[in-house]
Amino acid sequence: AVSNADIAALIADVPDFPKPGVTFKDITPLLSSPEGFAATVAALAASAPSGIDVVCGMEARGFIFGAPVALALGAAFVPVRKPGKLPREVVETTYDLEYGTETLAVHADAITPGARVLIVDDVLATGGTVAATADLVRRLGGSLVSVSVVLELAFLGPRAVLAGHGIDAVTALV
Ligand code: IMP
Repeated sequence: AVSNADIAALIADVPDFPKPGVTFKDITPLLSSPEGFAATVAALAASAPSGIDVVCGMEARGFIFGAPVALALGAAFVPVRKPGKLPREVVETTYDLEYGTETLAVHADAITPGARVLIVDDVLATGGTVAATADLVRRLGGSLVSVSVVLELAFLGPRAVLAGHGIDAVTALV
């Protein structure tokens, strides 16, 4: 069986990327391990509360984990995208990054009011991306039930940010 420690060992530390002083967590070795990737998807799905209707995954690495989790749960997959990518009516939100801002968009009809939503991403860092996605889910009337990520950078304090957005249910595998 593949343990969470095995999953952690398949995530590489890349020093000084994308800029000096930052250590980037590279999940591509995990994706290159069929056993590791399968175990990660299974663990993310197992961490989800029952009755999830929609899995939201954020561009781009949230797609990689969110789509197979949606299939495993028998739920819809909804891509949350950078601006200008979705062809129909969208709702957008802009949030602050360390330098500058980022905008995320979702199709306005992607979430039915009352739908039970799970957010899935690869890495939870400051929490800003998940918080912004949660705002989109709520604006469409969805019920954000839980958040599942592969890896949490706990030293950045994301849970306090998420709690400030009313998000208390967060599962990190590693
Ligand atoms: P946050 O908004 O600061 O929580 O950043 C999380 C977003 O940035 C996620 O969508 C991640 O994919 C990405 N991210 C931040 N740090 C890393 C990293 O070290 N490795 C991979 N992705 C990261």
